[in-house]
Amino acid sequence: MKIIVLKFGGTSVGSLERIKKVAKIIATYKKKKLGVIVVPSAMSGTTNELIKKTLELSNNFDASEYDVLLSSGEQIACALIAGRLKHLGYKARSWMSWQVPILTEGPYGGSRINKINKNRILKFINSGGIPVITGFQGINSENRITTLGRGGTDASAIMLSKFFKAHECNIYTDVDGVYTTDPRNHSKAKKINKISYDEMLEMASLGAKVMQPTAVQDAKLNNINFSVKSSFIKKKGTLITGNNKAFSDKIITGITSTKNDSKVTIIGVKDKPGVAASIFKPLFLNHINVDMVVQNISLNGKETDLTFTIKSEDANKTKKLINQNKKILYRKLTCDKNVSKVSIIGVGMITTPGITYRMFQALAIKKINIMVISTSEIKISVLISNKLVKKAIAVLHKEFKLD
Ligand code: ASP
Ligand code: MG
Repeated sequence: MKIIVLKFGGTSVGSLERIKKVAKIIATYKKKKLGVIVVPSAMSGTTNELIKKTLELSNNFDASEYDVLLSSGEQIACALIAGRLKHLGYKARSWMSWQVPILTEGPYGGSRINKINKNRILKFINSGGIPVITGFQGINSENRITTLGRGGTDASAIMLSKFFKAHECNIYTDVDGVYTTDPRNHSKAKKINKISYDEMLEMASLGAKVMQPTAVQDAKLNNINFSVKSSFIKKKGTLITGNNKAFSDKIITGITSTKNDSKVTIIGVKDKPGVAASIFKPLFLNHINVDMVVQNISLNGKETDLTFTIKSEDANKTKKLINQNKKILYRKLTCDKNVSKVSIIGVGMITTPGITYRMFQALAIKKINIMVISTSEIKISVLISNKLVKKAIAVLHKEFKLD
């Protein structure tokens, strides 16, 4: 029997009305004579409520008990879905991860699934049953409950697809797919039909929160194709797949922008070996993540300017660390919080020349000044004033024929 894995996110199971709807979606697959594995998240808000409770009791709540607590939200969702399916006349059963069992390795709060015992589940599917398995969790070698990081039901769905060699994996959520850019920033944003794992990872790390990035990595490593779909409206979703299968006539697949970036410039730094390292070491030691970096060539060979970006919440700490740093000499330190990083993403740029030029030219025509540039194989990012983000997205969206 062909097996299909259906994941339902927190909003999709967020109320009893929605759970009824989810049961109907599950039934449509069952009627097609498919073996269905259901893996739900906790009802929306539940996991956050549980986290709040731990914070009330301790600011250093025990990590293993934290996982026992957080995993409970999925147990509720599983029982409600299985109960509703039975009410509709289907054979269904809930499975806690320890009953399967789903084995994990790694730390509490951030474990990864490394094995799933298939026997009992397969037997149940072959007897016509629908197993409803808790997402987001497993057990470790000490038989204790572990969780897979926030949004971890995505990873559960991908790994269930891997171990059960699923024919299809559908991630049901509250959006109907992955968009070319955030529809709240640009009204002409369009749903993407197909996107590669790498593009999806770039989009996710740049703020498009559709999928847990770890789950996308798992999918890439194991070559699992999956679709993101809406559980509210019946529409084709977005297929996430390997690079060679994702090609389309579009060179650029998506455009993202960041919030809360700050630009730090150190003016007149002594230009000698080791200076950049001495600037960034204290930032690293304080867990401050540095993103884009540029260093000017020094005209006189003595002094240079160094610019980099960080998250705005780290701005004050960064300034303090540079001020206190006795290893470096400079003339002035500036910090601009009104900046934003706009990125174009697409595997098509690997083989198409002129993309950088087209991006810069399109921005120039709209008089948008570029402060910092960074690139990867499938991404070009520019730092601009945050007042110009919407304008930049609009012009780039049009330039790369995404409208
Ligand atoms: N319930 C967990 C969370 O809120 C896992 C998930 O939603 O996928 O992070
Ligand atoms: Mg979620």
